[in-house]
Amino acid sequence: MNSNQGCVSKRKKRGMESGVLTKGEEEEKIEKQKKKKMKCDLVSYMELPDYMKDNEYILNYYRVNWPLKEAFFSVFRWHNETLNIWTHLIGFFVFLGLTIANLENVPKVSDLISNFTRSLPISARANTSENNNSFFWDSSTLTDLEKTTAEISTVAQQASRWPFFVFLGGSMFCLLSSSLCHLLGCRSHRFNLLLLRIDYAGIAIMIVASFFPPIYYIFQCDPHWQFIYLALITTMGILTVLTLLSPTHSTGAFRAFRACLFLAMGFSGIIPALHAVSVNWSEPRCAITLAYELAMALSYVTGTLFYVSRIPEKWKPGMFDLAGHSHQIFHVFVILGALAHYGAALIFIEWRDHVGCDKLV
Ligand SMILES: [Zn+2]
Repeated sequence: MNSNQGCVSKRKKRGMESGVLTKGEEEEKIEKQKKKKMKCDLVSYMELPDYMKDNEYILNYYRVNWPLKEAFFSVFRWHNETLNIWTHLIGFFVFLGLTIANLENVPKVSDLISNFTRSLPISARANTSENNNSFFWDSSTLTDLEKTTAEISTVAQQASRWPFFVFLGGSMFCLLSSSLCHLLGCRSHRFNLLLLRIDYAGIAIMIVASFFPPIYYIFQCDPHWQFIYLALITTMGILTVLTLLSPTHSTGAFRAFRACLFLAMGFSGIIPALHAVSVNWSEPRCAITLAYELAMALSYVTGTLFYVSRIPEKWKPGMFDLAGHSHQIFHVFVILGALAHYGAALIFIEWRDHVGCDKLV
């Protein structure tokens, strides 16, 4: 089958062949055929146009030049991209759920006001006690005062949440753009290139966004370092996206090059991480966040190794076409890495909610 025939309508010729149809009947039949749903077939690697020849170890079940509608609904069909789509689509919904859950926990202005007004009568009562009965304070008054102070200080010290949501937003963008790229990349060469660029930009955005919670909260009391590290990683992200805008860099031949660029971005985090550890070595949460971040790094590196090596399909071409090939494994490790980083971000926030700048070194 020609590569441009990946998706064709099933036009039966029996009427034409018999030659007994009148012109009107023939037109009616053609009209019915137009209305008839297009049936798209899956093709083999050998039948692919060059722009889709990415992995020679996946032999079958390709979609080529499918109309947008059919490509979109192929999310519910079995082909060699089905699990690539779903792994990151499920990841997207997981992060969407986490974002919604965390948005509900963000203190609203009304909560801050009610906290403040609730504390006023107690403060007033305490002040009255101080003025009139200072020698007769009982323990309940003291407890009230302590509670009031704790409430006010908790609200006052609550760390800003926006860096956390930058990370969640970046992760969701990456996972969704990846899913769409795998779902609709079979539309055409031009569409494929566009989606690949969005996909690569999504990875770079996710890496940059991942830097925001740790850098922001760790260096909250040292804004110079906070700015330097965030500016550096953002610049690296922009340069990476600009480099990958070149169509040549989107091809299979540059798979390792792309992986190296993303790994370089990720591993540039070692410098601020060493800086942070040296400054906060005595902080008990340091070891826990380090464990989470090491789990994240391990997940990303393992996933990237699968992505570059194309194991296991390389060992048994054709066997993992539908399930179990390297790209699906890579996707799963990306989600595991992002979840580990999410765990670390929660600890950074909890730490900053309780430890203000005055208590640091
Ligand atoms: Zn992918």
